[in-house]
Amino acid sequence: MRNFDPIESFANMRHEFGEHGGVNMSIEASTTFTVMHADEMPEIFQGRRGPEEAGGGCYLYGRHFNPTVYVLGKQIAALEGAQAAYCTASGMSAISATIMQICEHEDHVVASNTIYGGTFALLKEFLPGKTGLQVSFVDATRPEEVEAAFTSRTRLLYVETVSNPTLRVANIPRLAEIAHAHGAKLVVDNTFSPLIVSPVLLGADVVVHSLTKFMNGSSDIIAGAICGTTEFIMSLMDLHTGALMLLGPTMDAKVAFSISLRLPHLGLRMTEHSRRAMTFATRLNELGLCVIYPGLPDHPDHDLLASLANEAFGFGGILCLDVGDVRRANELMDLLQNKDRFGFLAVSLGYFDTLMSCSASSTSSELSPEDLERSGIRPGLVRLSIGYTGSLEQRWRQLEAALVSLKFI
Ligand code: PLP
Repeated sequence: MRNFDPIESFANMRHEFGEHGGVNMSIEASTTFTVMHADEMPEIFQGRRGPEEAGGGCYLYGRHFNPTVYVLGKQIAALEGAQAAYCTASGMSAISATIMQICEHEDHVVASNTIYGGTFALLKEFLPGKTGLQVSFVDATRPEEVEAAFTSRTRLLYVETVSNPTLRVANIPRLAEIAHAHGAKLVVDNTFSPLIVSPVLLGADVVVHSLTKFMNGSSDIIAGAICGTTEFIMSLMDLHTGALMLLGPTMDAKVAFSISLRLPHLGLRMTEHSRRAMTFATRLNELGLCVIYPGLPDHPDHDLLASLANEAFGFGGILCLDVGDVRRANELMDLLQNKDRFGFLAVSLGYFDTLMSCSASSTSSELSPEDLERSGIRPGLVRLSIGYTGSLEQRWRQLEAALVSLKFI
C-alpha cells in the first residue's frame, strides 16, 4: 500500500466558491470572454496570458479554456496526484487527443492487447489508416514482450491500469522504466481504478479517464479527462498545434459543474463498490464458480495491485464471471435483470446500480475472434460493475437465487 491520499489531496485544494459566495462554484456559461484592453488580446493568442499566466484569470474562447472546466481539471489533477489536467467531451476524445498530441505521422505505438474495444479499434484501424501510425499490440503483463516491441519510432506505450474486461493489472513502474529507456511516454487509462491507483505517482507520463464511469457515477454524462504535466496539458491547448484546441472535443461548462458535484463522494462510492465486489467475488469463488477479481488472493495480479494501490479504496468495483458460453451468459443476465432485479443488462460501468454485459459480444466486439482469444476475452465472460443500491445481502440473495435456478451451483 502506498502513501498518497487522494482524498486529502482533494481536500487541500483551494475551495472554489460561487460568484456570490455560494458553496458551489458558478457555471461560466459564456463561450467568449472580454479583455479589459485591446493590447491584451494578442498576448492571449501568444500564450503570454491565460488561466494561470501573468496573474491568471484570463480566458479567450470556450473551445480553449473555460473557467468551470478548468476548475474541474484541477480537481481531477488533485485526485490523480498530477500537476495538471483538463477535461474533454468523452473518454475516447481524451485518448485520441493524447495519442495525436504525442505522435507524429508514421510514429510507432506499443499498446496492450487487452484494452477497451473502442481504444483497440482506434489503434488497430482508425489511426493507422488515417495517419500512418504504426501499432504493435503486446501482452502488457510480460515486460520482455513489451520491451521487444519497441522501435526507434516508438513514442508511446499505452495500457489500462486494470484491463477491460480481463482485469489484468499493469505493472506501471516497470512499464514506465521500459518506456522511458526508449524515450517514449507511458500513457495509462485509469478509468477502472480512480483513487485506487495513482499512475502518475508510479511513473506514468499521462493518465486518461473516461469520466463517464466511476468518476461521475450516475451514467448520465459522457466525459473524459487528461492528466499530466502542466507543459503537456498546455500543449494540448496550443492554438497552432494543440490536439484539444484544434480537434475541439470540448466539455460543456454545465457538464463540468455536474461532475464536480460528484467528486466529493467518489471515495465513499469507490470504497462501497469495492467492498461489495470483494464480498461477491469471495462468495462466488467459494461456490466453485470461475470468478475473476483482483482482490482475490489467487488472482495472478493480486499482489501487484496490492503493492500499487492507495489505502482504503479496495480492489475495484468490477468483477467477471466466466460461465463458459454466450448462451449461458445471456440466460444468467436475463434472469438477473428481468426476474430478480439484481442489476441491468447494459454496457458501461461505475453506475450506482449493477450493470452486466457479455464483453466478447459487446464492448470488446471490435476485436476479431483471434484478437479476443489472444486477449483472454472468452465468449462466456460476464462483466459485472457492482453497484451499491439495495443492501449487500439482498443483492447476494438475488444473485445466488439466479445461480441456483439456472443450475450454475
Ligand atoms: N476507457 C475505458 C477503459 C472504457 O471502458 C471506455 C468506455 O467504455 C472508454 C475509455 C471510453 O470512454 P467514453 O465512452 O467516455 O468515450
